[in-house]
Amino acid sequence: MGRYGVTPARGEARIQATVALLAEYGCAPTFPTPGRVVQWHPHFIESLQAAGAEIAVHSFDHLDLKGYPPEEACEQLLKGAEVFERHGIEVCGFRCPYLSWSEGLLDALPAGRFGYSSNEAVWWDAAPLAGVKVDGPVLAKLTEFYEPRRAQSATSVPHTWRGLVEIPVCLPDDLQLHDGLKLGTEAIGAVWTDVLQQTHRRGEAFTLMFHPELAERYEGAFRTLLEQARGLQPHVWLARLRDIGDWWAEKACFSAEAMPVPGGWRITFASSERATILGRGLATDLPGGRDGAEVWWGPYSRLQGPVVEVAGEVLPFVGLPSGTPESSVVFLREQGYIVKSGELAERCAIYLDGTTQAGLKSEVELIDHIENCAGPLVRFWRWPDGARSALSITGDLDALSLVDYAPRLWVR
Ligand SMILES: [Zn+2]
Repeated sequence: MGRYGVTPARGEARIQATVALLAEYGCAPTFPTPGRVVQWHPHFIESLQAAGAEIAVHSFDHLDLKGYPPEEACEQLLKGAEVFERHGIEVCGFRCPYLSWSEGLLDALPAGRFGYSSNEAVWWDAAPLAGVKVDGPVLAKLTEFYEPRRAQSATSVPHTWRGLVEIPVCLPDDLQLHDGLKLGTEAIGAVWTDVLQQTHRRGEAFTLMFHPELAERYEGAFRTLLEQARGLQPHVWLARLRDIGDWWAEKACFSAEAMPVPGGWRITFASSERATILGRGLATDLPGGRDGAEVWWGPYSRLQGPVVEVAGEVLPFVGLPSGTPESSVVFLREQGYIVKSGELAERCAIYLDGTTQAGLKSEVELIDHIENCAGPLVRFWRWPDGARSALSITGDLDALSLVDYAPRLWVR
């Protein structure tokens, strides 16, 4: 509580300074904000939106929504959204306080009210934190709400379910680093940079979670992170959560069909202009084939759609036998793989039979297996415009002053 003043002036100046700092690097944050805070400071919140920041719904009161019946928890989110609309704040997605979502809550939400959620968590073992355990004595208390999956086995990538694009956050967050591990700005910058590099290598999303009341202490860490991000190739997509949610919904409509032509296949892509279409191991020297593809990452080149002709008998897609769980099919599609079942499946360059699938124990193992298989492959990439990975900076704007903070002491 010592981080707030009695009036909002100090809190507001701190947030404006963070928005300005990120803007120097072409980055705009997402601020999940309780409806009550919007109601009390509508002009300030509007000014943040006007400056390019996204404001996300963060309940009405800052409550642990898991502790409430789903209908009441849902009411809290809807009440927050109503306050937004009353004050001209766009409603795109939400994050529950303490990431306290539940399946019951998601089921209770009216369809289409929100485009995305950001409530799951993935823990990254950053190299500078060697030996620190998420469930060890220092962090256990700070982490108990988050229930993270581990990046060794889980991907930090959005997924669509229950009509929402869920965009997981990355841990450790700033409270774990600053309050839990007592790290200073330089050490925090080193951890963030390490997570950035890991997410870039894997082509995933680094959804950084910070607390704006602490941000003035991390100026150096933000600068280090964003300078590193600027230097990576292929580039890192700096995006607000709403941008990621919109993109994921756009990408869900992409598809590719193959027609046999003499000596090979003609592949026609249905996608938007922003699509990143990749190919590896292709012979594209058929009449009409595209030469001069831009080398992108590892074995992959970037292809120019909407039509590509490839030589050879095998189809450069991923084949799946009938009986593959729907969840696996959806997961592979969401990563951008072009998946075929039925009679085309066994003609695909990569075929994941039931035994192979059963031997792959995690999302990360499944992706590594496909990427390590020999053979030609054509796919969509996860991110738009040739970006290798995404970086989204998100900070819960839970309070601007002691007065805002006070309801947390009595509302349960
Ligand atoms: Zn919060």
